[in-house]
Amino acid sequence: MIHRACSFCGTHESDENPLIAGNGVYICKNCVISAYKIMFGDDSASSSKSDELVDAVSQLMTPKELNNFLGEYIIGQERARKLLSVGVYNHYKRIFKNQEVADDDTEISKSNILLIGPTGSGKTLMAQTIARVLNVPIAITDATSLTEAGYVGEDVENILTKLLQAADGDVEKAQRGIVFIDEIDKVSRMSENRSITRDVSGEGVQQALLKIIEGAVVNIPPKGGRKHPNQEFIAIDTTGILFICGGAFDGLDEILKRKQGENVLGFGHEKKSKKEQKLSYDMVEPDDLVSYGLIPELVGRLPIIASLNEITEDDMVRILTEPKNSIIKQYKKLFSIDNVELDFEEDALRAIAKKSIKRKTGARGLRAILEENMIDIMYELPEYSGYEVLITKAVIDDGESPVYIKKHSKQIA
Ligand code: ADP
Repeated sequence: MIHRACSFCGTHESDENPLIAGNGVYICKNCVISAYKIMFGDDSASSSKSDELVDAVSQLMTPKELNNFLGEYIIGQERARKLLSVGVYNHYKRIFKNQEVADDDTEISKSNILLIGPTGSGKTLMAQTIARVLNVPIAITDATSLTEAGYVGEDVENILTKLLQAADGDVEKAQRGIVFIDEIDKVSRMSENRSITRDVSGEGVQQALLKIIEGAVVNIPPKGGRKHPNQEFIAIDTTGILFICGGAFDGLDEILKRKQGENVLGFGHEKKSKKEQKLSYDMVEPDDLVSYGLIPELVGRLPIIASLNEITEDDMVRILTEPKNSIIKQYKKLFSIDNVELDFEEDALRAIAKKSIKRKTGARGLRAILEENMIDIMYELPEYSGYEVLITKAVIDDGESPVYIKKHSKQIA
């Protein structure tokens, strides 16, 4: 019996190391793997990546689990959290399980998400938190910085470069990541925040976004920047990427009011009572977004519309204290390293919240306000080892010193 041998390493054919026959030559399994590594790099032949994906499928969290996780970091916004959890769950189910059920012809189509809510209401935080729980890379960008290719500004494709960088250059990982595009409303017709370097309606940017959002293979320069003819490109398939868009959509309520008015025409009493109702963006429909100036094709690609409420004073107080990594918890920890106990009077928290509301930046202002007040205290902090520092309303409102209370517990012990 003739034993065939690998033409590269001379090893004889065996069950563990089978041969592939070529034109008068053979190559064994081990040499195929070595050749693959030489051609495509050391990591590419390992099975770890596909293992990771299998893991992600089996560990795919349920919508409830996702929502619970979000709830540890995001205050309020219950409806938006729920919608996001279901949307995200369906998205990943679709990309991980579609292959398994591919024999029937029903392909589950891609459902990207639109978050509508005022600035500082937690849109970016939601996208970031969901990416963290899923352990997928995320790229955050601002639609106002984007341009169509060829204009001054950032090419739309650069979002994918950012995502690839967030995935440490791992294309497969990037292709399952999340892209968050904030201020999508600013590239619509209604917006006045347009740059003169861009087309008048912002439609060019929307068209460019549409291309990547609907799922396409896009060649991107791995290091970003303009495309140079001699730069190598990397192909990214955007089919599995979840796009979350965000925007405040100022003025959208006018569209809703008009629509509501039309709907109740002829029913005077009803009209009045509806007018008195506070308008909720929960009732936004795709048509309203088209009226606002988003192109219908883009709206069609964002079938999940979740609205976030404006952050109230009560929410702000909760945001300061409740989330797992709340700002105050972070400060307390920082102080405890110096053996100082940090406490806040309820009124002080309310004063911070009130100041933040005045700034009209939602909960985003909270950190800055707190920081402004803590600088002087932290400057002297090491001298107060063994003390409790109590922040009162007067500290926040009038810049007074906090109350320092010497703690005795340690001395007694
Ligand atoms: P948006 O994207 O809606 O403008 P962000 O998500 O960037 O707002 O919010 C800014 C900051 O405000 C967050 O980093 C977070 O600290 C805080 N914040 C905003 N909304 C919430 C919320 N609902 N729950 C907890 N923190 C919030």
